[in-house]
Amino acid sequence: MHDDISLTVGRVRRVLTERVWPAVHPESQPLTVEVHQLPGEPVPPAEGLELDYEPYCVGTPWGPAWGTTWFRLTGTVPQEWAGRRVEVVVDLGFDTNMTGFQCEGLVYRPDLTPVKSLNPRNQWVLVADPAEGGETVELFVEGASNPVLLDYHPFLPTQEGDVQTSSPKPLYTTRRMDLAVFDAEVHDLALDLEVLFELQAELPEGPRRMRVLQALDDALDRLDLQRISQTAPDARAALRGVLDQRSDASAHQISAIGHAHIDSAWLWPVRETIRKVARTTSSMTALIDETDDFRYGMSSAQQYAWIKEHRPEVWQRVKDAVAAGRFVPLGGMWVESDTVMPSGESLVRQFLYGQRFFETELGVRTHGVWLPDSFGYSPALPQLVRRAGFDWFFTQKISWNQVNKFPHHTFWWEGIDGSRVFSHFPPMDTYNSQLSGSEVAKASTQFRENRVATGSIAPVGWGDGGGGTTREMVGKAQRLADLEGSAQVRWEHPDDFFARAREELADAPVWVGELYLELHRATLTSQHKTKQGNRRTEHLLVEAELWAATAAARAGLDYPHDELDALWHQVLLQQFHDILPGTSIAWVHREAVAQYARVTAAAEAIVARSLEALTGAGETALLANASSYAIDGTPAGGVGLLDAPAADGTALEERDGGFVLDNGVVRVVVTGEGLITSAVDVATGREAIAPGGEANLLQLHQDFPNLWDAWDVDRFYRNRVTDLRDVESIAGEVVDGVATVTIERAITPESTVRQVLSLAPGSRTLTVDQTTDWHETEKFLKVAFPLDVRAEHTAAETQFGHHKRVTHTNTSWEAAKFEVSMHRFVLVEERGFGVALVNDSTYGYDVTRDVTDDGPTTTLRLSLLRAPRFPDPETDQGEQTHRYGLVVGADAAIAAREGEVLNTPAREITGGEPVAPIVEVDGEGVVRTAVKQAADRSGDLVVRVHEALGGRTRGRVRFAVPATDVRRANLLEEPLPDAGLEPDADGWVSFDLGAFEVATLRATPPPTT
Ligand SMILES: [Zn+2]
Repeated sequence: MHDDISLTVGRVRRVLTERVWPAVHPESQPLTVEVHQLPGEPVPPAEGLELDYEPYCVGTPWGPAWGTTWFRLTGTVPQEWAGRRVEVVVDLGFDTNMTGFQCEGLVYRPDLTPVKSLNPRNQWVLVADPAEGGETVELFVEGASNPVLLDYHPFLPTQEGDVQTSSPKPLYTTRRMDLAVFDAEVHDLALDLEVLFELQAELPEGPRRMRVLQALDDALDRLDLQRISQTAPDARAALRGVLDQRSDASAHQISAIGHAHIDSAWLWPVRETIRKVARTTSSMTALIDETDDFRYGMSSAQQYAWIKEHRPEVWQRVKDAVAAGRFVPLGGMWVESDTVMPSGESLVRQFLYGQRFFETELGVRTHGVWLPDSFGYSPALPQLVRRAGFDWFFTQKISWNQVNKFPHHTFWWEGIDGSRVFSHFPPMDTYNSQLSGSEVAKASTQFRENRVATGSIAPVGWGDGGGGTTREMVGKAQRLADLEGSAQVRWEHPDDFFARAREELADAPVWVGELYLELHRATLTSQHKTKQGNRRTEHLLVEAELWAATAAARAGLDYPHDELDALWHQVLLQQFHDILPGTSIAWVHREAVAQYARVTAAAEAIVARSLEALTGAGETALLANASSYAIDGTPAGGVGLLDAPAADGTALEERDGGFVLDNGVVRVVVTGEGLITSAVDVATGREAIAPGGEANLLQLHQDFPNLWDAWDVDRFYRNRVTDLRDVESIAGEVVDGVATVTIERAITPESTVRQVLSLAPGSRTLTVDQTTDWHETEKFLKVAFPLDVRAEHTAAETQFGHHKRVTHTNTSWEAAKFEVSMHRFVLVEERGFGVALVNDSTYGYDVTRDVTDDGPTTTLRLSLLRAPRFPDPETDQGEQTHRYGLVVGADAAIAAREGEVLNTPAREITGGEPVAPIVEVDGEGVVRTAVKQAADRSGDLVVRVHEALGGRTRGRVRFAVPATDVRRANLLEEPLPDAGLEPDADGWVSFDLGAFEVATLRATPPPTT
């Protein structure tokens, strides 16, 4: 036979696109449209429906950036449409080449019932099926004219990212607002054709492909293009044979779950996310009602809480669909947070607040962590996932790696403490599947565990304003359930997939350590004030809990549960994976900074009133120490007397235009250029600075990545650097025994930096307080510390411990990690000597090795500031502050302590008398991270400790207030079975801890009589 493959392919493509899909709505007539364009922010739907409307012509431009326009659509179903399915079709001016990220609408009935959303690829609304003919139609559309920020001109700076700077001109032009007949048979024909057309493209040139092609030709031969409705059944009959062929016995099994990845803020503000979620969930509950087996999954308790608060009418539908098992809460977290930067306590609260919401509001506990899209995953996560009671972990993002292909799709992921969590990455490499033939085939061929396992997950649907799963995707799933040549697709709860995968993969491969994303490395630095706000508030809330719990136990104050819950919710929301990473528009970061200020003020007020109640009135100088280390004689978690400054403070000597600072523990030489050329551990005489090296050297790099400006720093940024040596002024002084050196420089003619170096008596940390007036574009500011240490690894703090990364770049995996994460410290060590850098608000660093004539050295550099111009063209402009420090003669214990003390400094207060801690913690390497009242408001005390050094240890905890029934608990504060702890004669309970193990203790106060 002659080969006609390309002819058939071209024929199907054209007929399907130009004739069959448009014939799905074969008859239509325009609706009468009226409009009310709202100035400013949205109003509740009840107000929207009551607005004054004026006539509107379809085809008229509407909607300035961030505006809301209400449309009122009225009409009458023609009598001749009786018995047919009638829909409203609305095109708000959509660009169907984009699935979301643009204008959207939510349709309401006059009684305020939400109907469904309008999205670029989801433009219909059901009126009646079947229609009687003659019914009147009245619908309202809340149209949101969100600007397109990423697609037409990706990564160009734009002012549209904030309502304060966006332009007032209308962005969209409506094309269609019609009543129309929906022809189900033509819709089915379109799906039959599309599924087979996409299938054949993935098949080898064997009999199956040829028979499918022939059937497609036969079907189109039977289709009269002028009478599509009438001839569709006959055309479908020609496809029946190939559609009925069953799939192979070894076909890959795709476990589909309806999905819409809705970023809780990103290229739109939080207020718009609230509406995006309401729109998408309206559509998804409607689709659930119209189908039999479709299931939709949604993560993020915060998004459910928004629906509950702002769209109660949608909330009831969600609750009903959850109760029916069709709408599946996923993930058990408050938001899909970043997992690299939040503290251990923050991640615990993501799980605690997430699961509690699902359980109390929906009666559901989720069994897995669902994080398709955040930018790398901390190696502390496996333990936290398991201790929060989850069985599985899901992401997809690592498929975005620039260099190295991740070797597994279904595997055990092992964390720093040795905990393992069963994990899956969908081999389809997307969390927005449309079940296209190529995606389905890709899942099947790419799946790395094909030798031993049968299936993978596919999250199906458009996110971020795309409206979720479409009826076309549901139709495709139906056809792909059992089709020769294709993987098999079925709607399924991810729990069921994981249960099966675990049985199949009894001996699953293991990945140890962080899931480093080889992309988006600059998210550790962009939007400094957002990062600083996160670090400061997560510490402040832990401190507020400690003093509030202490004041409740010792002074009878009520524990402020409501207030603390609300503050945590706010901090957890800002940890969303486009806010904390600094990748959102200006509006989002402006609001984040304002929220952090509010949280700070409220938490400070809790601290102040708790301490006031605890110490009583008086003028005694006191030190309130919330850290988990004793400071200047004040016990951890207690209030002590503030000692007078030591008689002999740190010595400061001028030398060669610079200064020498010496407190008897550390001696530091600062040159006239403000650079550190020597930092000696006095006791051992060991020098910390590399021979000939200059530490505290600020380095300015050009930083213009190829793509994703706020997200990415590309490797070549290092090739161009300016060392900042020119000094405007340098001055030294001793204040209250603390020696300081103040250095001022110009970075460029536009930007300046002021550093105050200080060495306190008795401290081994030289602290740098830096204020930068930053007016750069596309630059990266680092501060370098060349160290006389031959370090094989860096040890960087993460949640509840630290993790080691090799300092070499032997393989592509290590070379890709040229910018990596830390929390409060990074340590380099050789046997017997180490140096650490600590910080109070940054997360990125890099490490390089060098060899000098005097031996090998290691250079650590902290990442301080960037200046990308997309999506926020003014990123980080203006005054920025940092506090960081060089710890001379450090090991993991010292680094952890210095890091914590820098972030939880003791407070100098006045009051009546000292206060003893309510909880004491003891044991080598045992660190306390939380003392609080239980979230269930029972009045129980909850204490969390962990092993911080990476070895086994034995810890002790004593409740210094009456407590009974001390038990170990999970991270959700639920007592573990058989985990009771018996106190000894002195009231201490003892327990073993493994390396980096987290332990939560829960104690019940005795009943008051
Ligand atoms: Zn996302």
